[in-house]
Amino acid sequence: MTPTPDTNQPSPAELLKASSPTLAGTIAQTLADPQVDRFSDDDNQFLKFHGVYQQRDRDVRGADKKFILMVRCRIPGGVVTAAQYLACDDLATRYANNTLRVTSRQSLQFHGVVKSGLRTVVKGINDVLLTTLAACGDNSRNVMAPPSPATNGLARLVHQHARQAAAVMSTRTPAYHSIWIEGVPLNLDAPENKNFVDPLYGKTYLPRKFKIAFAIPPLNDVDIFTNCCGFIAIADAGGQLLGYNLIAGGGMGRTHGNAATFPRMADVIGFLPADKAVDVAKAALTLHRDFSGRTDRKHARLKYVLADRGVAWFRGELERRLGFKLGEARPFKFEKQGDAFGWHRQADGKLFLGLFVETGRIKDKDGWRMKSALRRVVEKFQPEIRLTPANNILLANMDPARQDEITALFAEHGVRIENQGSHLRRASMACVSLPTCGLGLAESERCLPGLITRLEALLAETGLGDQEIAIRMTGCPNGCARPYLAEIGFVGKAPGKYQVYLGGNEASTRLNRLWKDTVKDADIVAEMRPVLARYAKERQSAERFGDWVARVLWNEQPAAI
Ligand code: SF4
Repeated sequence: MTPTPDTNQPSPAELLKASSPTLAGTIAQTLADPQVDRFSDDDNQFLKFHGVYQQRDRDVRGADKKFILMVRCRIPGGVVTAAQYLACDDLATRYANNTLRVTSRQSLQFHGVVKSGLRTVVKGINDVLLTTLAACGDNSRNVMAPPSPATNGLARLVHQHARQAAAVMSTRTPAYHSIWIEGVPLNLDAPENKNFVDPLYGKTYLPRKFKIAFAIPPLNDVDIFTNCCGFIAIADAGGQLLGYNLIAGGGMGRTHGNAATFPRMADVIGFLPADKAVDVAKAALTLHRDFSGRTDRKHARLKYVLADRGVAWFRGELERRLGFKLGEARPFKFEKQGDAFGWHRQADGKLFLGLFVETGRIKDKDGWRMKSALRRVVEKFQPEIRLTPANNILLANMDPARQDEITALFAEHGVRIENQGSHLRRASMACVSLPTCGLGLAESERCLPGLITRLEALLAETGLGDQEIAIRMTGCPNGCARPYLAEIGFVGKAPGKYQVYLGGNEASTRLNRLWKDTVKDADIVAEMRPVLARYAKERQSAERFGDWVARVLWNEQPAAI
């Protein structure tokens, strides 16, 4: 792509999309050419819509620098069958880096795929009726829904609406099937391809991504307020779904040094009948399509439309497009986020097992062979797999009579079911960052486990013991692990240096605030020591760290940004 000198002009990404609405580019030709080891810059942009990122291994320098690919699935609600999981495990073993990454939007990612294996991976994913289409790119991303096993009518209905929304939002390009399933270039001379325009997205798709989530209070296990468009289930006392409260305009990403970009919590817009959820999601997406800017990608998110034009405008325009009015939002209350670990009984009498997957990376390492353990358990017991927004896994619909056998099988691989880590560790999240993410400014996934060990020691030293504090780390301000909601958020600024944010809450309904603009990794414990010592002394009964920060620190230190 060539730079656009005039900032009032559409961004280069917009011009590129308009030039090839099928998103075919020359992907198929490059795939077929064994002499070429990389995709062109333009094709790299198109690949994102197909769920693929071309990356470099940033650990490798000089002439040995290799191109690798990240492949992301789109799995509405994070629900995967045993057969689908096993297929993904197999593809990761044979064609990726022998790990699977549970993403913060309930999906699975493959890292370290080389070009010669790319089509096999994408086709293999499709062969088990999963897809990578629209997992990345300027379209609606994976639709999130509560990960807890959907064994009652309310949860089943909410998941059904999430799946319907995902189906309606899917892009329609014929290039995906042609390239990845049939293995041939799209015939661009065929009239239906030559003049292709996506019926929902148009010629230029969205200005940037669009995120939808569903939640069932009181559990905010999808971090609903970080989404462009969220549906909060409102049920009667008997658990019957009455409808949804619509929220809109949330988002995490920002850019260092650019005050026009900021994390934002979604606004509550109004109430809608349950059977209108898909129509409303579609209409909200069209507002993003039509009103978010197309000149500056850093500012092209629905949250800025809400920030600039306000809730009343948004609701009015939405109602005009829908042709009906929303009701007033109904009362709701979120109490906590996060996952249930260990064994739990489902409403139908079966069991589910919550597994903590540190930083979301399913792998085998010394003394903790989670990847092999999962493979054995899934093969033998055929559970439903539920991927959680906190990067963990729930194995659902397990027979209570097999509980001890399953526990023993995990133990054989060094995976404990009881006490899967300290409360601090289990409440932690990190994005991928280095060495694969091209945007990473500092380590994240490879740094956080060691930092948690040091902070565990600090909690013990300050008398806080096994206190749960939600800690999230990202390698850059885009905020994939949603650090701006954490009680302690670390955001990469430069190698070994982080911004530190404090003050999120247990329910993930409050943004934290910048506390220190640059702290070296090696200094984090020393910086945190006096704050945690004060918290230990001043907290009121069971007051959480984030709540103490909001009550005490924020009154002493006004928001830095
Ligand atoms: Fe990459 Fe930044 Fe997302 Fe981390 S937060 S995965 S560094 S884009």
